[in-house]
Amino acid sequence: MLGYVGIEAVLDQLKIKAMKMGFEFNIMVVGQSGLGKSTMVYTLFKSKMWKSTIPGLGMPTPQTLKLQSVTHVIEEKGVKLKLTVTDTPGFGDQINNDKCLRPLDIEFLQRLCRTVNVVLVIARADSLTIEEREAFRRRIQHNLRTHCIDVYPQKCFDEDINDRILNSKIRDRIPFAVVGADQEHLVNGRCVLGRKTKWGIIEVENLAHCEFPLLRDLLIRSHLQDLKDITHNVHYENYRVCRLNESHL
Ligand code: GDP
Ligand code: MG
Repeated sequence: MLGYVGIEAVLDQLKIKAMKMGFEFNIMVVGQSGLGKSTMVYTLFKSKMWKSTIPGLGMPTPQTLKLQSVTHVIEEKGVKLKLTVTDTPGFGDQINNDKCLRPLDIEFLQRLCRTVNVVLVIARADSLTIEEREAFRRRIQHNLRTHCIDVYPQKCFDEDINDRILNSKIRDRIPFAVVGADQEHLVNGRCVLGRKTKWGIIEVENLAHCEFPLLRDLLIRSHLQDLKDITHNVHYENYRVCRLNESHL
């Protein structure tokens, strides 16, 4: 092959380096207190992808009073991921929740979206019927559009037709209606993470029960690098420019 220099070997180099260095990923959970944030942190860590590799995840935490970060290094097939999830105390607790996007939420989300990637979820989805979940999701989507709140995955960062196709499907299903749980139960001989009720077990990893698997797949499987890239290239860059401008005043 005339002129062939083997540029594609750089892919192997990147892979070897990535395996050696591992990946880091930080998530922060925010929302009103009592919504299930702390439980969701546990659910993320205990979900089946790495249940077996994390020791010492036990009791649910008491009410969260300050910022609390939990870090675990998760290793799968030689790839290391240092996952840090930061739990926060309730946000805007003093204000009534009437199940719509309250003015404070709108203001908060507008600002937050300019600073970080926001992945919206409907918490405690087991308290809503299927129809209510759908109606709530549509109402939130409508409010986001009306108030120009650009949650992740942002349309303007779709790079090609494949991104557009994949991300439009996600945008249509956001916010994911999730259920959190920190207890395991035996269902048909399988150990599942779920919430036990008098009429059955709500399995958090069962898509027929809730959309937690979609959330986890988005965060960890399909969009981890994209989330990091946008954070670095867009959000951090905006922050850096602001700070530089301030220092020149
Ligand atoms: P936080 O204040 O947002 O951190 O909420 P917690 O995680 O401490 O949860 C508050 C209460 O809600 C606890 O009793 C949890 O067991 C319960 N909870 C958490 N997630 C869910 C859920 O998805 N569905 C239901 N029904 N209850 C939940
Ligand atoms: Mg909490």
